[in-house]
Amino acid sequence: MPEVDPAEYARAQEYSAAKNNFGFVADLYGLATGLVHLWLQAAVWNGPALSLVLRCGGTASHELARAGASMLLCAPWDLLSGVPVDLYRTFVLEERFGFNKHTWLSWLGDSLKHFVVEELLMGSLMMAPLVLLVRSLGPSSWLYGFGFTSLFVLLLNVVYPVWIAPLFNTFAPLPEGDVRDGVEALVKSSGINCSRIFQVDGSRQSAHSNAYVAGFFGSKRIVIYDTLITHLDGDVEDICAVVAHEIGHAQLHHNYALLGVSTAQLFVMFRLFGVCTDPRLVTDFGFDAPCAYLSLLTFFTLWSVAMPLVSFGLNAFTRQLEYQADAYSVRLGFDIRKALAKISKTNLSDLNPDPLDSLFHHSHPTTVQRVLAVKQLLDTCERKAL
Ligand SMILES: [Zn+2]
Repeated sequence: MPEVDPAEYARAQEYSAAKNNFGFVADLYGLATGLVHLWLQAAVWNGPALSLVLRCGGTASHELARAGASMLLCAPWDLLSGVPVDLYRTFVLEERFGFNKHTWLSWLGDSLKHFVVEELLMGSLMMAPLVLLVRSLGPSSWLYGFGFTSLFVLLLNVVYPVWIAPLFNTFAPLPEGDVRDGVEALVKSSGINCSRIFQVDGSRQSAHSNAYVAGFFGSKRIVIYDTLITHLDGDVEDICAVVAHEIGHAQLHHNYALLGVSTAQLFVMFRLFGVCTDPRLVTDFGFDAPCAYLSLLTFFTLWSVAMPLVSFGLNAFTRQLEYQADAYSVRLGFDIRKALAKISKTNLSDLNPDPLDSLFHHSHPTTVQRVLAVKQLLDTCERKAL
């Protein structure tokens, strides 16, 4: 690990502490607003949503119509309740450390797009068929619900990089030059079946840098943030080391592994849903009578409270995948340590996090852990070569 300037180290620690403190408050706030949302939905479901459906000629048992009316009537709360946290994160926390690149207008535009596309549109597209399945298939409906949701998640993985991500950023071919030549040569030598390489204008929102390989089947693409190229000073060797790491994720089938884990998680969730048939799960929140939509809504909300425990296991898994992708980059002939150190410096990464906090929250090992693992691997390769 290259020497770290004490002032830079202190700045990174200050950023981590500020993020952790804010994260704790934001989690509590999210839990509280999630529960308020449920109580609010009950009041709207029993009152204005029912009146609206009756006025349009429906009946109280038209649950999809009532669900749609409730969703629309509660939309202002859903949109506005997240605003304080997002505003603070963007214009106070990230701004203070020089990462925020949003203007008020671009932030507002992105927030509205996220809400309409990801919450209203995708939420409805998933929830409506799920309600019909749970409503009509009786005791084994949890299994059909699991099957449908798993397919929906797979489809989303194919569709998101092609149709949805471009709504928020511009994905352009890498500009001609040394970086593009280097990355194209790397793609060819690695044997990855992926011809789409994009540069994304991540700098429109944030100064943080990233790169990834996304999509399944025909939608697979390599995406490099413009900020990554800037942070690595346009150094072709360093950029290729990072892209080789991302190619490693794809070539080692980490996307399928993560899809498998999320499918297993969905199975556990729906099996539990199949067991939780007590109507009080719905009526205790103030809803007038249980139905498929309300059972799903209350169960998903309660499940989201247990998510930190799930992400604890998932993070332990993804940290191992990161080591494997680093090793893949080394096997392709790159020493990724310099790039990791540069990225860590510009992203103000926490070099010395609390181990317990790290265990729960970090999907990646720390830079120090990754650099040491790469060093160990390079030493072993050297010894074998002697
Ligand atoms: Zn990675």
